[in-house]
Amino acid sequence: MGRTFFVGGNWKCNSTKASIASLCSTWKESGAGVAGPPVDVVIAPPSVYAVAAAEQLPSGYQVSLQNTWTGKGGAFTGELSAEMAKDCGINWVILGHSERRHIPTIAESDETVATKVAYALGAGLSVIACIGETLEEREAGNTNAVNERQLAAIAAKVSDWTNVVIAYEPVWAIGTGKVATPDQAQEVHAALRVWLAANVSPAVAESVRILYGGSVSGKNCNELAGKEDVDGFLVGGASLKPEFTAIVDSHK
Ligand code: PEP
Repeated sequence: MGRTFFVGGNWKCNSTKASIASLCSTWKESGAGVAGPPVDVVIAPPSVYAVAAAEQLPSGYQVSLQNTWTGKGGAFTGELSAEMAKDCGINWVILGHSERRHIPTIAESDETVATKVAYALGAGLSVIACIGETLEEREAGNTNAVNERQLAAIAAKVSDWTNVVIAYEPVWAIGTGKVATPDQAQEVHAALRVWLAANVSPAVAESVRILYGGSVSGKNCNELAGKEDVDGFLVGGASLKPEFTAIVDSHK
């Protein structure tokens, strides 16, 4: 069975009520994602805007949080639980984004990310689990080792991968305008499938969607989407722009 193309948009800590209304209306007019082969589109607004954005996005687009807590809600000031997301009709969460791993005041460890992934899945959310190496790690020849270490932490806590989408996001490509070449992305995605086949199962390796993220734009998406193991994208900057619809349609 083929893997349905997937395009995620991560708005990070950007947007206003006015910018969301304007963007959603432009996207609706474009008709992207409507005709042709199916595509899953999942948008992650800042949480305070998530419910309002859900009401304005083109029909069929789903909404995600950008983070959830490691467990059930309670005395955790400032956090959001997976149960709250579900209660608000939000079925997705992005976890392990490199900004949450590498910004020093956040500094989520592999273990924390894995705990969050397992908890969110158990609470009924689907998860976009992000992994990726820094430039220093790539230049030291450790790309696969780093990605496999981050994935292994998740695999140690997750047994059912049905609701997991993996986003390979090289840190050096995020928000930098330096996009991985289609061959670089394909090479890592293929290696991840080999790792999954050996360490999880051949069925999961075949069925799990692996997205590429890092400076994807309306200009470079078609070539990347043409690669066998690139099942879609997680998009930051371009998901705040009209050109996002070209990325949604890049698999056609
Ligand atoms: C991201 O934040 O997940 C991302 C890929 O950002 P950008 O597309 O801006 O590089």
